[in-house]
Amino acid sequence: MVVLSGVQKWFGELHVLRDIDLTVHRGEVVVVIGPSGSGKSTLCRAINRLETIGEGSITLDGQPLPEEGRALAELRAEVGMVFQSFNLFAHKTILENVTLGPIKVRGQKREDAEKRARELLDRVGVGHQADKYPAQLSGGQQQRVAIARALAMEPKVMLFDEPTSALDPEMIKEVLDVMVELAEGGMTMIVVTHEMGFARTAANRVVFMADGQIVEENTPHEFFTDPQTDRAKDFLGKIL
Ligand code: ADP
Ligand code: MG
Repeated sequence: MVVLSGVQKWFGELHVLRDIDLTVHRGEVVVVIGPSGSGKSTLCRAINRLETIGEGSITLDGQPLPEEGRALAELRAEVGMVFQSFNLFAHKTILENVTLGPIKVRGQKREDAEKRARELLDRVGVGHQADKYPAQLSGGQQQRVAIARALAMEPKVMLFDEPTSALDPEMIKEVLDVMVELAEGGMTMIVVTHEMGFARTAANRVVFMADGQIVEENTPHEFFTDPQTDRAKDFLGKIL
């Protein structure tokens, strides 16, 4: 579904992605972990082309990422992204947040978009909040709305960049539960997170990044019980 090959990215002198090769198969859940500054967010942003890359290639479902225009807007719809900060439109209701993309980008009729949005909001457990504004919801609820909003575009893959890092502890589980359900439903997912419980339950594979490189890739069980590199051992020693 997503193939990165020989991807290099520089910010000026800073080499932030170094020869990244990564293949994520349809229905696979890949957790990306690694120290702050290792390039995890840049990797996600490159996959929906919020960042351009210097060298190499990225394909989505066999197609190279489009450069610009309508094709790029469609790509962004096909790659759902959920960030650490919830990024909801503050002056739109929860329902409007979810229907905006399907109406504008996908050309859906309002009535159809609203019906689907209500189903998705129910599915993530905030159906009764549809007519409220983001500020009236808790962080955990807002993040679940952000997930519903991405799903409304019927993405081929979902990217999560530390989706629970900004949440109060008691709200982390309600978001992770939604993500686990998505994973079990067969969604292709790339998830940057340090939530080891999620990685153990839902991930097919853990990718460990450091200094812009993929240093290690393994099943969650192998990675957590028997990391192969000193860098991974050192990192796990700090977070576990
Ligand atoms: P991570 O998500 O693993 O913490 P990032 O992908 O955010 O890492 O950042 C990787 C490196 O690139 C860091 O050194 C960061 O400071 C740098 N970086 C990220 N975005 C930019 C940018 N827009 N301009 C310059 N440097 C950046
Ligand atoms: Mg990051």
